[in-house]
Amino acid sequence: MRCEILTLFPGMISPVLDESILKRAQAKGLLNVRIINIRDFTFDKHRTADDYPYGGGAGMVLKAEPVLKAVDFIREEEEDLRVLLMSPQGKRYNQGMASELSREERRIVFICGHYEGIDERVKTYLSPEEISIGDYVLTGGELAALVIIDSVVRLIPGVLGDSTSVEDESFNQLLDYPHYTRPARLRGMDVPLVLVSGNHEVIRQWKRWQAVNNTFDKRPDLLDETALSEEDMKILKEIKEESEK
Ligand code: SAH
Repeated sequence: MRCEILTLFPGMISPVLDESILKRAQAKGLLNVRIINIRDFTFDKHRTADDYPYGGGAGMVLKAEPVLKAVDFIREEEEDLRVLLMSPQGKRYNQGMASELSREERRIVFICGHYEGIDERVKTYLSPEEISIGDYVLTGGELAALVIIDSVVRLIPGVLGDSTSVEDESFNQLLDYPHYTRPARLRGMDVPLVLVSGNHEVIRQWKRWQAVNNTFDKRPDLLDETALSEEDMKILKEIKEESEK
């Protein structure tokens, strides 16, 4: 994954990239991020990146020209870019979009707004894809860009130790099953016996049952969309019968 983050607040980004899996992904060359300070593309005496809104109203608006200049600068290196504008008005981000972005070969440019937003002409000029990470309003696009990068990077082969851990988990088909680690007994609570049985087939069935049950319990809306296997249908039927008793 190759990305460019256009921001007025680079300090919000780097601490997150310098930890844990994102840090390792960069060390392995699987993630390449360049943080570009939009202020570096302002050329007036005061290096102004924001200004008062035309027509009045609260807050400041990020100026268009510095953002466009920053994109021009990247385009000089590589013409064909995937440009994403972080915006609460965008298409709502989900796991399917993460999976699609994990296969993107072009450089991905994240434009992070701040304050009241960005001069609308950035959209008119660049026709970026507007993406929202959820129906709430953030102070800036930095956290949204990081959420997207984080969720995409972990889908890139080689980033997580064990690629099957990506295959079983939530949102691929069903919500994940519960996880346990040592000790086997904790404050009077035991790990489900089946998990220490050593019987792989029984363990597999248990996990499947838990996943279907979790989904039925917490997110039944996902079950309607899911193409369930015969085994899952059977489990679901049992769970439904059980819940009707
Ligand atoms: N006045 C704007 C909100 C500006 S919030 C409006 O009501 O539409 C400031 C910046 O934070 C935005 O430009 C955007 O880049 C980012 N942002 C806020 N909420 C977001 C969300 N849910 N998803 C992605 N980016 C968001």
